[in-house]
Amino acid sequence: MIASVSISLLKIASWRGDIWEGWAGQIILRCDLLQSRKTHDNQLDMEWTLAARDRVGIQDFVLLDPHTSETAFLDNLRKRFSEDLIYTYIGTLLVSVNPYKEINIFTKDLMEIYMGVNFFELPPHIYALADNAYHTMLQEMNNHFILISGESGAGKTEASKKILQFYAVSCPSTDLLTSLRDRMVVSSAALEAFGNAKTLKNDNSSRFGKYMDIQFNSEGEAVGGHILSYLLEKSRVVHQNHGERNFHVFYQLVEGAEDKLLQSLGLERDCQHYSYLVQGECANVSSINDKNEWKTVQQALIVIEFTEDDTESLFGIISSVLHLGNVHFEPDARGYATLLGKAEVGWVSKLLGIHEQVLLEALTYRKIEAKTDEVLSPYTVDHAIYARDALAKAIYGRTFTWLVNRINESLVNKDSTKKTVIGLLDIYGFEVFYVNSFEQFCINYCNEKLQQLFIQLTLKSEQEEYEAEGVEWEPVQYFNNKIICDLVEEKHRGIIAVLDEECLRPGEATDLTFLERLEEKMGGHPHFVTHKLAEKKTRKTLDRGDFRLLHYAGEVTYCVVGFIDKNNDLLYRNIKEVMRQSKNPIVRQCFSSTDMDSRKRPETVATQFRTSLIKLTNTLASKEAWYVRCLKSNEAKEPGKFDEALVRHQVKYLGLMEHLRVRRAGFAYRRRYDIFLKRYKPLCPATWPHWYGLPADGVAKLVEHLGYKPDEYKMGRTKIFIRHARTLYATEDAFDV
Ligand code: ATP
Ligand code: MG
Repeated sequence: MIASVSISLLKIASWRGDIWEGWAGQIILRCDLLQSRKTHDNQLDMEWTLAARDRVGIQDFVLLDPHTSETAFLDNLRKRFSEDLIYTYIGTLLVSVNPYKEINIFTKDLMEIYMGVNFFELPPHIYALADNAYHTMLQEMNNHFILISGESGAGKTEASKKILQFYAVSCPSTDLLTSLRDRMVVSSAALEAFGNAKTLKNDNSSRFGKYMDIQFNSEGEAVGGHILSYLLEKSRVVHQNHGERNFHVFYQLVEGAEDKLLQSLGLERDCQHYSYLVQGECANVSSINDKNEWKTVQQALIVIEFTEDDTESLFGIISSVLHLGNVHFEPDARGYATLLGKAEVGWVSKLLGIHEQVLLEALTYRKIEAKTDEVLSPYTVDHAIYARDALAKAIYGRTFTWLVNRINESLVNKDSTKKTVIGLLDIYGFEVFYVNSFEQFCINYCNEKLQQLFIQLTLKSEQEEYEAEGVEWEPVQYFNNKIICDLVEEKHRGIIAVLDEECLRPGEATDLTFLERLEEKMGGHPHFVTHKLAEKKTRKTLDRGDFRLLHYAGEVTYCVVGFIDKNNDLLYRNIKEVMRQSKNPIVRQCFSSTDMDSRKRPETVATQFRTSLIKLTNTLASKEAWYVRCLKSNEAKEPGKFDEALVRHQVKYLGLMEHLRVRRAGFAYRRRYDIFLKRYKPLCPATWPHWYGLPADGVAKLVEHLGYKPDEYKMGRTKIFIRHARTLYATEDAFDV
C-alpha cells in the first residue's frame, strides 16, 4: 500500500510538472488538481486542499456534506463554473456546464495526461470518463455506451466530439487504421453540415438524433464504426421560424463555393435570393462562418473518400432544393396552378437529371389511378405549393439518409475478429419554443425515453438490484417519468396511437378532430392538459387548437396544426415515379422501387420513430452505461454567465439530487464474484495463483487482505458491492505495483 501511495504521488508530481508547463496561466485548474491528491496525510497538503476547495468547490458531489441541499449543490457548481471548472462528478457520472467560451482544457497534452490514469486521480474531465469506459471495456471485454443528455444548447454535441477526438488520439493505431480513425472524426463535421441548424436555442442545434458505435478489437484499436440516425427535422427545409435558419449546408454552399461551381449549379452568391433561406430573416449570423465551414465540409468529404462524381451529385441535389423553393405558381383562368417563370424548373430538371416537361407535370398535376387507366387531375396553387414542398423535403430527407449510409460504408469494419463497442449517443435535446409543433413533440418524447432509460439503469434497477442481492438499503424516492412515456407511446391508447388512427381517415380527419379525440381519451390524465382543464391543472389558459403535456423537464404547449400531415408524410405517387427516373445516381438510389408498393400502407412517422427509439433503448440497456449530464448555463449563450434559476431547474428535472442520494447511500462499484476474483486475485497470497473454493469466499479473503473496512463493501448473493469506486482505484494502484 505504501508503495502504491508513493507511486501515486510520483505520478502526480510528474504530471504536475507537465501541467505547470503546458498550461501556464491555468492556475485555477492546478488548484483543482491539488484536490486530486486526496489529502495524503501531509498537513501542508491538507491546508492547500482546504483552501482550494473553498475557492473552487468540490470535484465530486459524493464528497459534499451527506445532507447536501439543492442550494449547496448549486453553490458548488457555481463556484467551479466561475473558475472555469466546467466538470464535476457524481461518482462516475459527469456533470458538465456549458461555458459558452473556449477553455484551454482540450489539448493533446491534456489528453495524454488523462490516458490510462485512474478515474478519480485527476480533476473531472470528459477525457477521464472516455478513458475509463475504454479501459473497462478492454478489461472486461464487454460493450459500453455513453449517454450524453441535456436540453438544447447544453453541450451534448460538443461533448460527443471531444470523446471522439480523445479516442482518435489515445487508442493505439496502425497506418491502415489511422485513415479509418480520421474518417470517424470528420464524419461529425459532414453530418453536422447537413443535419444541424441555427434555432432560437442553439446556433448549432442537432436536428437529428445520432447514435454511433465505435468498434474496438482486443488490442484496443478502433477498427470500425457505425452510425444510426434518427428522425431528421425535414420540415425545416421548407419552413423556418423567425430567428432560425435552414440546415447549415445550404448557406455554406452559397457563401463558400467557388464561382465556377456556383455557376454550374445555377446559383447566385446571395442567400437572400432563395425563399427557403430567408424565412427566419437571419441568413447571416455573426457566430457562424459559413465560408470556413464550407472548406471543412469539403475536406471532410474528401477524407470520407467521396469521389468527384459523388460530390457533384450531392451538391446538385442541395442546389435543386434551393431552386425548387423559388418555383412559384399562379392560378390560370380556371383557378389551376401554372408556372410563374420557367428558369427554376429548368435548373431543377438539369440538376436532378429529369426531363423538364415530366417534372413540370408532376408539380402541377396529380395522377389518379382509375380502374383501367390513369387520369391527370390539375392542382390548385395551394396544392402545387404543397407538392413542391413535399418533394423538397423528400429529396433532402432521403439524401441525408443516403449520406449516413455512405459514411457507414467508409467506416465498415474489415476485421472479422471479435470486437467490443463503445456507443455514443447524441440526440436533439429537450426544447420549448413559443410555438411547438409535431417536431418538438417527437424530440421531447425522445428525451422522455432517454430520461426513462437513465432512471431504469440508475435509480430503479440500482434499488431493485440491492433487493435482489439481499443488500440492506434505504430506498430513495424519485419521480418516474414512465407515466409520460406511456401517455405518448402506449399501444392502442397513447397519443401516437390516437394520431395514427386519425391518419387512417383521409378526407375526414383534421388536426382538430385529432385534438378532439385526444381530449376524449386523455382528458383525465395527470400529465395531459386540454383547454377546458388548463387553468385548473396548470393555472395557465390554453388556446382551442392546443394541448399541453407536463413533461419531466417542464410544460410544453403543442399546437396541433400540421400533426396529421407531418405524421402521414405523404409524397404523391407520380412524383416518386418521376424521381426514380432521375439521372442523378443519388436521387435514383433514394427513390428505389421499395416504397412504390401502394398496397402496403407505410408506417407513420411517429410510429417509425417510436419503434426505432424502443429498439435503441433496448440495445442500450444491454450495454454498460456511462453518463454525461450537460447543463445549460444561461439562455442568452453568454460566456461565463451562470443563471442560477435555469441551472437549478435542470438539476431538478434531470434527477441529479436523487442520483447523488442513491450514489452516496449506495455502492458505486459492483462486480460478479467470479469476474472480480479473476481480476484481483494476484493481490492476495490466499487467492493467487488459484482459488479452489467458491468465488464469493475467495473475494471475501481478497477484500479482507486488502484492508477494506466492513462498511466499505457488502457481499451480495452473486456480487460484491463497493461503496466508493475510489477505494477500488486505490486497489488498482497496488495492482500496478
Ligand atoms: P442541441 O440539443 O440543440 O443539439 P447540444 O446540447 O448539442 O444542443 P451543443 O451544440 O453541443 O449543444 O452546444 C451549443 C453551443 O455551446 C456550442 O456551439 C458552443 O458554442 C457552446 N459549447 C458547448 N460546449 C462547450 C464547451 N465545452 N466549451 C465551449 N463552448 C461550448
Ligand atoms: Mg447537438
